[in-house]
Amino acid sequence: RELIIETPGQSYPVYVGEGALDKLAHLFSDSLKGTTKLLIIADELVASLHGDTLKQALPQLPYEWLTVPSGEKAKTFASFETCLTFALEKGLDRKSCILAFGGGAAGDLAGYVAASYMRGIPFIQIPTTILAHDSAVGGKTAINHPLGKNMIGHFHQPAAVVFDTRFLQTLPEQQVRSGFAEVIKHALIADPAFLKELQTNVSSFEDLSADFLSYCLERGIQIKGEIVRQDVKEQGIRAYLNFGHTYGHALEAKLGYGKVTHGEAVAAGMVFALHISERKAGLAFNLKEFIAWLKQLGYPLDLNKELLFDELYALMARDKKTIGESIRFVLLEEVGRPVIKQMSRMELEEADRFIREEAA
Ligand code: NAD
Ligand code: ZN
Repeated sequence: RELIIETPGQSYPVYVGEGALDKLAHLFSDSLKGTTKLLIIADELVASLHGDTLKQALPQLPYEWLTVPSGEKAKTFASFETCLTFALEKGLDRKSCILAFGGGAAGDLAGYVAASYMRGIPFIQIPTTILAHDSAVGGKTAINHPLGKNMIGHFHQPAAVVFDTRFLQTLPEQQVRSGFAEVIKHALIADPAFLKELQTNVSSFEDLSADFLSYCLERGIQIKGEIVRQDVKEQGIRAYLNFGHTYGHALEAKLGYGKVTHGEAVAAGMVFALHISERKAGLAFNLKEFIAWLKQLGYPLDLNKELLFDELYALMARDKKTIGESIRFVLLEEVGRPVIKQMSRMELEEADRFIREEAA
């Protein structure tokens, strides 16, 4: 399946499905014709599992291969520098192309390297996690600063996204659960019918069929792509994609990255935001049933149990999505109809209590 992501001044293809990797070589005789050299920046673990498969699909071009630490450890200044040094030493030029091979972490790093090297060279995302259906599309690239996650980065759209779902076969269940939370988010903010399909068809991650998963990824990418098309630099509606993330990021930061996955924290954040939506945005929703579904899928909703609301509030207030004193929250008026509202501390505290007493 080919989807097209349109952004002002540039549009790029996203290939999703089993065997999508076959499309890779073709790109270099087409839109990326004239490419001098490739640099593959690969998550270490992904390289060991699937490196050979990728190598077989590369075009007939000289290439260099660099592995970076697996997962979040890739997104440091140190590995950013390692990548740039490697690229310079190996003689990459303005017509070279970087391939990002791994989950969102490797993709964010490689994208930022591509955005910075010689003021920007093309790159291709080759995602290997479910979560990366979200991160590979939209052009946000970043590394972490010791003072904050994703604080250093650029907008740099990929030249293409090649999402071969065969790579997902080795993904551990916790990572499936993490990535699937973003699929659920895409359904909540944009498509009630899609949400219903998810709730009907997905009752556990073990028996999720490859076909249905591909469909979910495509639909998620379409939804994200449409929002990004309308607001590339997040001046308006792109903020809707942060649904569930304000509280989710606070949980993630407080519990420690690696202790809880991004998607698990976002799932709890979505319950939080849905509860506020019912009270403050007129949302009519069967939250009880939704919570039961998330629990059945193994999402832990008691992530705040050993944390104080004050700690979470301090983090929410510091999140980069805040403007001034009040906290901007993405709520839903209806499934598929997000809205942004300023929330007071008291309202947030009430929702935090709801999670402790009724959701967890
Ligand atoms: P990740 O890249 O850290 O990967 C999670 C783990 O799974 C890693 O240990 C990795 O080695 C392993 N892995 C990856 N693919 C595998 C496979 N096919 N089989 C087995 N193991 C595999 O995590 P992620 O959840 O993909 O991405 C999270 C990152 O994405 C965060 O850094 C987050 O900030 C970023 N992100 C960026 C955007 C964006 O718009 N740029 C959006 C959302 C998230
Ligand atoms: Zn997210």
